[in-house]
Amino acid sequence: MQEDKKIKVDYICNLKIRLTDMDIFKPLNLQKDSPDISKTEKSEKVRCLIIGSGPAGYTAAIYASRANLHPVLYTGLEMGGQLTTTTEVDNYPGYPDGITGPQMMENFKKQSERFGADIRLGIATAVDFSGKKHKVTFDDNKIIEADAVIIATGATAKYLGLESETKYAGMGVSACATCDGFFYRGKDVAVVGGGDTAAEEATYLAGLCRKVYLIVRRDVLRASKAMQNKVFKTGNIEILWEHQVVDLFGENGVEGATLIKKKGTSEEETVKIKIDGFFLAIGHTPNSVVFKQYIETDQVGYIKTVPGTSKTNIEGVFAAGDVQDPHYRQAVTAAGSGCMAAIDAERYLSELK
Ligand SMILES: Cc1cc2nc3c(=O)[nH]c(=O)nc-3n(C[C@H](O)[C@H](O)[C@H](O)COP(=O)(O)OP(=O)(O)OC[C@H]3O[C@@H](n4cnc5c(N)ncnc54)[C@H](O)[C@@H]3O)c2cc1C
Repeated sequence: MQEDKKIKVDYICNLKIRLTDMDIFKPLNLQKDSPDISKTEKSEKVRCLIIGSGPAGYTAAIYASRANLHPVLYTGLEMGGQLTTTTEVDNYPGYPDGITGPQMMENFKKQSERFGADIRLGIATAVDFSGKKHKVTFDDNKIIEADAVIIATGATAKYLGLESETKYAGMGVSACATCDGFFYRGKDVAVVGGGDTAAEEATYLAGLCRKVYLIVRRDVLRASKAMQNKVFKTGNIEILWEHQVVDLFGENGVEGATLIKKKGTSEEETVKIKIDGFFLAIGHTPNSVVFKQYIETDQVGYIKTVPGTSKTNIEGVFAAGDVQDPHYRQAVTAAGSGCMAAIDAERYLSELK
């Protein structure tokens, strides 16, 4: 097994043990000194509510706490966000030797707690943004009334739904070329998808890898003409038209993929390709459904913000991170927009006084 992949495999094997040792996975202190305005078991008034515990949510919590907004942050199901599902994070500034995703998110959490952020377990299940006070229900049970709300609920990458995608998660399967491409320098990889994202990921990987297969279900690309031209001009991208992935194989990580060519036709054929990495580029689902009745989104579901700000169409409701970012979807950009949201919320609240 190649060394980069081995490090990832070893890490995954030890991940469960190590995660249980981390503070991030220990029960939260829910009974801290409460800075909220008023509180009962079923309802509570707060100045600043943050929904989501990824880089955007925790960064918003750091800035909002330091601005004396006494933020309450609800973590959602995935405490720490998407980075808790990955191994090495090598591109976040400030970590010259890299850091694991779970460790980095533990650091984010600790830093926000240092300034007094009130971090709680809970999932936003309903919202009412019709009045001046914004109401968010958590776990179908408790209603938080907030003057300002920061939505930082992230986006989830779409997968094909193959069992082998789960089996090789972190061992050759990735949904982010910018994040993981570096691990496949000089190797052969495949990208699945036919849209702009797939074309972008394929050309990005072509700059790092020996060969990139672009696996396209149809006989055309949906990507823009400009992106298509870029793909066609890149010598080490081979497009596999009308191919569908049915399985991945390999002993300790991805070593190849089984594809069906021209499925359901008289020319149907099974094809096997040898690859070290398998990249999904079939889109993301922004976690915005619960807000959709009030908050404007684009067609895919990304929350629309006023350009250059975190402001949504509802006054006092701000959005940060991947849930409002169809383009970059990186930890550093999510953290940056979390900072923007906290500053926007602070300015909004100071004008409310
Ligand atoms: C496998 C993998 C590897 C990656 N590697 C890198 C990398 O190396 N470098 C890099 O820069 N980026 C990487 N990324 C991308 C990076 O993880 C994201 O860009 C970043 O996490 C986005 O941060 P976020 O705060 O917007 O959202 P997320 O990290 O997605 O966090 C969303 C949060 O919202 C919460 N939530 C969702 N719905 C609700 C709800 N209804 N109620 C309450 N809470 C809710 C979730 O529990 C979660 O805590 C990777 C992503 C993946 C999946």
